[in-house]
Amino acid sequence: MSAVLAGMDPRELTEWCRAQGLPAFRGKQIFAWIHRGADFDAMTNLPAALREELKGKAVAQPVSIRLTRVSALDGTVKFLFEMRDGHCVEGVLMRYHHGCTLCVSTQVGCRMGCAFCASTLEGCARNLSAGEMLGEILCANRYLAENGEPETRVHNVVLMGSGEPFDNYDEVVRFLRLLRDPEGVCIGLRNVSLSTCGLVPKMRAFAEEDLPVTLSVSLHAPNDAVRRRLMPVANTWSVAEVMDASRYYVEKTGRRVIFEYALVDGVNAAPAQAEELARLLRGLQCHVNLIPLNDVPERGLKGVTEAQVKRFLDTLTACHISATRRREMGDDIEGACGQLRRRETLGIRNET
Ligand code: SAH
Repeated sequence: MSAVLAGMDPRELTEWCRAQGLPAFRGKQIFAWIHRGADFDAMTNLPAALREELKGKAVAQPVSIRLTRVSALDGTVKFLFEMRDGHCVEGVLMRYHHGCTLCVSTQVGCRMGCAFCASTLEGCARNLSAGEMLGEILCANRYLAENGEPETRVHNVVLMGSGEPFDNYDEVVRFLRLLRDPEGVCIGLRNVSLSTCGLVPKMRAFAEEDLPVTLSVSLHAPNDAVRRRLMPVANTWSVAEVMDASRYYVEKTGRRVIFEYALVDGVNAAPAQAEELARLLRGLQCHVNLIPLNDVPERGLKGVTEAQVKRFLDTLTACHISATRRREMGDDIEGACGQLRRRETLGIRNET
């Protein structure tokens, strides 16, 4: 089997080169090329014979772009990334004045089963490797370079695509360490957000890793009863346990936690529930990100009106909880998360 070099750190690549009988400096060279998105053919400071030899033994770029869609509204690009085994995941490139943000997937599908999420409908096919997660970024950078923006790079990363990052903990941690390597894509972890549905033991373990990313917790409910309606994970860990783990993360890292809260009509969006949420979060260094639910017709759940969002937001603010409404981007290029992949690879279309 070919070695996937994209997931190796400089030390491991140097070791790998040594094992092939190559001098150690080749490891450094190859690492830098891979993180610039190059395949072996483009590695011009390697002898041609070596490039040919490497092609037979290893994979430099484990991800390619199968499909892109560009939003006419705001230039958001939705990618369908293809792995070498044919599995596909989605990525979204969003443009902000402070640079480009890529939403990265961590698994092919997801096994968490949240009631509102399209990514989980067929379960999880497999975990992505660190090299594949990095490959998503390299593809997006290549896309920018090939589409007239050679100076633009992915500047921020959010682990909010398909998958539960903490269900693929080791590879996600490896990916985060690769990201910040100065010889690589060199994305500082302060520019990275990781979103979890709240796997409590992993939240605690992650607090010990010394990886200063922003932790987002998909809370979506002010109490256990409501959370269990939306998220099966709530049957394993209570809201109180998620809160304790969040508090621990704040204590350990000194960073505030972001709580994501998708407003679902008739389920979690009433003003009294905003008050309950405010009581739950009181005293915790945090911020609430309100997300109007992207309707998922398969799930029979409905989003809320702008007036309902405003009311919920105003209630939280009146209770002194820092909160904002998440800006929506790329509305015209595919609805809820996971739906492009479903359409393109599974042939599933939504009734409109
Ligand atoms: N598994 C992780 C990250 C992936 S989902 C997590 O649960 O956090 C990223 C965010 O999108 C999560 O907050 C998730 O709850 C939210 N999300 C999923 N489907 C959605 C939908 N249909 N509308 C709005 N938000 C959704």
